[in-house]
Amino acid sequence: MWLSRTHTETVTCLACGEQVSRSKAREYDKHGDRWDRDDKSFEHLCKSCYDGLCHYPRDELEGLLVELEAGEATRERFLSSYLETVEERYGTLEEES
Ligand SMILES: [Zn+2]
Repeated sequence: MWLSRTHTETVTCLACGEQVSRSKAREYDKHGDRWDRDDKSFEHLCKSCYDGLCHYPRDELEGLLVELEAGEATRERFLSSYLETVEERYGTLEEES
C-alpha cells in the first residue's frame, strides 16, 4: 500500500500553507495522542513549523499559562496556582476520601 504513490503525494502544512511531500511532513495531532489512530485524520506540518511547536495540546496550555500570568508571578506563586487550576479543571489524580 505504500508502494507506488508516496513520492507524489503532497499535504498542506497546517501552519504556513506550504505544500510538502507527505514523506517529509510531520503528522500533527491536535489531541496530542499519536497512538490512537482510529477514526482520526491527522493534520500536517512541514518540518520547520513542526520544529517550532511543542508536542502538547498547545492552545489550552498557552491559555492556561497566560491566565496564570506565567513569567510575571513569582515561580512559587505560579506553580501553586497552576496546580490549583489544573486540579480544579481536570480533577485530582488521587482520590480523596
Ligand atoms: Zn509550515
